[in-house]
Amino acid sequence: MPPPAALRQDSEAIRMDSLGKTSASRPPGQNGNANTEIPGNSGDSNTGLHKRSIYEQNGVAVCSQKRALCIATVVFAILFAVSLIIAFAGPQNDCPCAGEKPANLEAEDEGDDGGPFATNGEVFPWNNVRLPTFAHPTRYNITIHPNLTTLEVKGQVTIEFYVDKETNFIVFHSKNLTINEKMIQDRKGHRLKISQLLEYPKHQQLYLELEESKFRKRGNYTVHLRFTSKLGNELEGFYLSSYVTADGDKRHLATTHFEPTYARSAFPCFDEPQFKAKFKMSIFRDRFHIALCNMPVVNTEDAGFYMGTGLLRDDFQESVEMSTYLVAFVVCDYKRVTEMTSRNVSVSVYAPEAMLPQAQFAVKTAAKIMDYFEAYFGIHYPLPKQDLIAIPDFAAGAMENWGLITYRETSILYDPEETSTAAHQWVAIVVAHELAHQWFGNLVTMKWWNDLWLNEGVASFLEHKGVDHVAPEWGMMNQFILDKTQSALHLDALASSHPISVPVKDPSEIEAIFDTISYNKGAAILYMLEEFLLEEVMKKGLNDYLNTHKYGNADTNDLWAVFTKHANHSFDVKSIMDTWTQQMGFPLITISREGNAILATQKRLLLSPRENDTDLLTPKSPFDYKWYVPLSYYTNLQPRVTTNVWMNLTDVSFEVPPAVEWIKVNVNQTGFYRVNYSEDMWTSIITTLHNNHTVFTPADRASLIDDAFTLCRAGILNATIPLKLSLYLLNERDFVPWSTAIEHLESWSKMMSETAGFKKYIAFMKTLLGPVTAYVGLNDTGSYSTRLLRSNVLEAALIANIEGVVKPAKLLFKNWMEKGTRIPPNLRDLVYAAGIKYGGEKDWNYCWNMYKKTQIPSEKVILLKSLGQSMDPWILQRFLLASLDREEIRPQDVEPVIAVVAHNPEGQFLAWRHLKAYWPRFQTMFGNGTFTLSGFITVVTSTFCTEYDLQEVSEYFKKVEVGSGQRALEQSLETIRLNIHWVKENAETINQWLHNYLKIDKS
Ligand SMILES: [Zn+2]
Repeated sequence: MPPPAALRQDSEAIRMDSLGKTSASRPPGQNGNANTEIPGNSGDSNTGLHKRSIYEQNGVAVCSQKRALCIATVVFAILFAVSLIIAFAGPQNDCPCAGEKPANLEAEDEGDDGGPFATNGEVFPWNNVRLPTFAHPTRYNITIHPNLTTLEVKGQVTIEFYVDKETNFIVFHSKNLTINEKMIQDRKGHRLKISQLLEYPKHQQLYLELEESKFRKRGNYTVHLRFTSKLGNELEGFYLSSYVTADGDKRHLATTHFEPTYARSAFPCFDEPQFKAKFKMSIFRDRFHIALCNMPVVNTEDAGFYMGTGLLRDDFQESVEMSTYLVAFVVCDYKRVTEMTSRNVSVSVYAPEAMLPQAQFAVKTAAKIMDYFEAYFGIHYPLPKQDLIAIPDFAAGAMENWGLITYRETSILYDPEETSTAAHQWVAIVVAHELAHQWFGNLVTMKWWNDLWLNEGVASFLEHKGVDHVAPEWGMMNQFILDKTQSALHLDALASSHPISVPVKDPSEIEAIFDTISYNKGAAILYMLEEFLLEEVMKKGLNDYLNTHKYGNADTNDLWAVFTKHANHSFDVKSIMDTWTQQMGFPLITISREGNAILATQKRLLLSPRENDTDLLTPKSPFDYKWYVPLSYYTNLQPRVTTNVWMNLTDVSFEVPPAVEWIKVNVNQTGFYRVNYSEDMWTSIITTLHNNHTVFTPADRASLIDDAFTLCRAGILNATIPLKLSLYLLNERDFVPWSTAIEHLESWSKMMSETAGFKKYIAFMKTLLGPVTAYVGLNDTGSYSTRLLRSNVLEAALIANIEGVVKPAKLLFKNWMEKGTRIPPNLRDLVYAAGIKYGGEKDWNYCWNMYKKTQIPSEKVILLKSLGQSMDPWILQRFLLASLDREEIRPQDVEPVIAVVAHNPEGQFLAWRHLKAYWPRFQTMFGNGTFTLSGFITVVTSTFCTEYDLQEVSEYFKKVEVGSGQRALEQSLETIRLNIHWVKENAETINQWLHNYLKIDKS
């Protein structure tokens, strides 16, 4: 799952985002009731008998042998009813002490009142949020009938399992499901009496205990459950979504999102990633709908005969062994476009019919990237088809369900005439990210969520490679440091960060680690690893890892082991990488020189001086905050010759020729660390940048900017160093360094906003941006990176109010609104924002109506962001209130709305007031466990920079529940303290420097 797209596009904190045989291994008749459908259907439809594919019959679904089925149905219904009567009529034993005591080894969750208690008031005998490990599911038969009108869901699941020790109970997951019928059978089809089925909602678990008999060691059993539930509103589990056609028709669809712990709310299951099993689905649907699942449909039957409803039932091919969180199914009225991979695997994109033209890019890209990953991993994609589907209401960016990948619309739809270059790239990146997961995550899965980074870090690392393969002209690998390394370094320098490997247990803890550290730091340390292992070793290692563990689970140590092996044991990869995954943070490498010797020392970099001084705030590290650092550098004598030196948990010194004036460490920012130099070396580097900045590569220029500004933020460098350095930007024309610089310059602008030097600072930004603004111009032409540079620079120019940009942008807006003159996609961010910012209610209403009307998802995003640029508080307030109504703004877009208002100087405090006023409502809207709450806290509060705001935020959140936003809150509070400190230490220095600089500049 990649981070939600909104995060990426609106701030730097993006979070993006099955095959087999028939289950007819049992002879029909012996176990005919194992596969009953809803409602009360005979089981033989799943035994493989009497099956007809609608495709084999020219699209006509024919129900033959109706008579036989009818008899079977009636017989089964009677048998099942009798069995239930017997089960319920038997002596009830409510005492959990019957038989074997549950192996309640980790009694970690004593309720406040001595619990845990089941819903019926009984003690719930299993007191662990994790399931017992002795029961192993092997196959699920699931039948689901969602009613998209009443929202009622009827379901039935049959789980085959075995136990590897004698026991009288099993525990599995269920959340918000009403279990109506239950039955247990042994291998021969004999029923075992159930003494009790208890539910413990806090752990989302069911406890099923046998009355007299026991599950025998190595015995195979089947549990049958019928249940009902409702299609949800929240964007998790099995939920309802909708879209509006161009004619204003509202269409509904039912879709799933299970990662990490929501499969249990769609059907009872063993919902932990290591419990892999085969899944065989059947879905009831209306004739005007289609049903999609991980696997292709093998049979469609007219269910009207049983139900008198005119429904059809699709039966899907059985999946390969997979984890529950990767199961997916969708009922909708979409159409598709299809491409074939070179091995003839069908790749389709499903979308509402009117949007299909926008699916062309994704389907072509997906087919090519499937070929690329098959070659890269050396393993064929194991399913017969790959579907990608656009879901209108979607919380993450996308989700890698095996064979049925779900995407937010903006992560998959692209219109060459209407979509910007950045949004275009985003589609390619998310498509590649989810396809990488088909191997990394789906074929081999982490044993437990503490190793989430194995899924997400690897997919985030490989996505750029995938895109680079299909579109080398985009220069994706140059953008890697912007997208991954820099954002991770930024967060990981807080004392409230966390190690990549982190113990997690309950669902909200699991949800909380879908963050920048798991995704971006994970990707960045793999990028660093590849630098010293080299690409071939990396590829061989990944191939070995996937082959060794396919259809199974693995952990971080398994990955390190294959790399060590394929590097011929020249590196002990585990020892090296443990220092990067098991402790948080990263080292600051300080470079000093004595004669011809360069000394490089390492010390953990913490931004906040207060945190720096307090050991108490720093959890102990197994490595005492020292790292194995692969140090790379070059000198002014040979700027294209890289030398590597290892720092093995220590400092290091090495010789350089006497003529060396400076060295540049961390070549191309491929290492996950920052570098400080002695003052004379900084001066020498800055002089070189001013004289001829191309001595350094674009990535190195970006890394010098990033390090200088960050070290100033940490109180390590005087503000005059980044100020002097940034003057070289007058000559800079490359996207990567400019993107880094704008990030820091705008951050400074926010912190300077209440200081005496603010106006001078804005004048300075105007000066820096002047030449590059003139260079990019307002014509949407040039290479990919030029277009990216243009969007980036012009948006910054608007914030700095550069007349040469604002004036023409306002004119373009006027012509668009009044005459319908088309605006090139890459200028729309700028033009809409300028129109709204300097316009009034009429302009705002026009954009709002366009937002409501457009059928182009990328256009919707731009309009939504622009609507928050107004300088009128009344309009901004109206906008915030509209975001509370899901008919006006989709829940997934609430965070971008709040973010853009909070980012607007006129809206910052409105957004904060809104967050406080509606916090309980957000908790209900999004669920207390979702990452959405973290996002709200971060976007609203982390730019505050006064003591007063710090008090406000800290006091408010003491009074309310924060859910999975706890870490985000700590990070925000630390960031605010940091901002306050920075202003105190630097504002006057900057003011003075700017005063002198602007005087000289003018003269
Ligand atoms: Zn992912």
